[in-house]
Amino acid sequence: VVPEVLVSGNHKKIDEWRRSTAIATTVKERFDWIRTQPLGGKDLTDVAAQIPPHYAVLMHDQVLIGKVDPQPGTTSVTTMDLHDIARSSATYGIKKLFIVTPLTDQKRQLEVFFEFWHTSKGQEYNKDRFEAMSLVQVCDSMTDVLMAIASENNNQEAVMVATSAKEHVETVSIDYTDQKKVWNGQQPVLIVFGTGQGLTNDLVARCDYVLKPVRGFTTYNHLSVRAAVAIVFDRWLGLHG
Ligand code: SAM
Repeated sequence: VVPEVLVSGNHKKIDEWRRSTAIATTVKERFDWIRTQPLGGKDLTDVAAQIPPHYAVLMHDQVLIGKVDPQPGTTSVTTMDLHDIARSSATYGIKKLFIVTPLTDQKRQLEVFFEFWHTSKGQEYNKDRFEAMSLVQVCDSMTDVLMAIASENNNQEAVMVATSAKEHVETVSIDYTDQKKVWNGQQPVLIVFGTGQGLTNDLVARCDYVLKPVRGFTTYNHLSVRAAVAIVFDRWLGLHG
């Protein structure tokens, strides 16, 4: 069926329709190319509007703890992670950074932390950091995170993409060029990061995909989660023009 606008005779609207459709098609089919273009102004915002909404979660539950025989457990929240990962999230257009902890004492500490960073005190102290911190939301569990995302995306389920320092066989492994596969359904995307010794195998298995580990030309593989998040965001969503 020919879209109504194309037979409207309104040439301005027809041009706008053609441009936005071309951008949507290019983001879907050739994100690898469009991200290398020197985009700015309206082009930048119009391309960004076609990328499905992305969320991130930093897990302090359903992670592995222990050096010898790591077992599922919980970890403490590190405020340095919050500062750094919130800034990376703001840089790459992540809609919300969820911090998952089921521990009452940790949530209490985070309440105190956000009594500063989610109020005018934080805004007066450092407005750019306040802007990044405004993306942060604390949740008890992954289930709460998924419900929060669905509630702001017309009840659409998020596509879950796990990250890990090691290869995983229990979930479909994808690379940093597989946006088309993940974005195909135009669903929100949740990128899952771990702490401790990484995400449990059960949690990775619950995800739709797992991104290949970020690697260098070495065998050293002990990135901090803060560093890994920034690299993963840039490889998955970064503008390289
Ligand atoms: N307390 C530790 C720290 O930050 O120093 C946390 C380490 S934890 C294993 C690191 C998390 O960052 C992983 O669960 C994963 O989400 C991500 N990560 C670490 N290395 C990675 C890599 N090579 N590729 C992709 N993600 C990685």
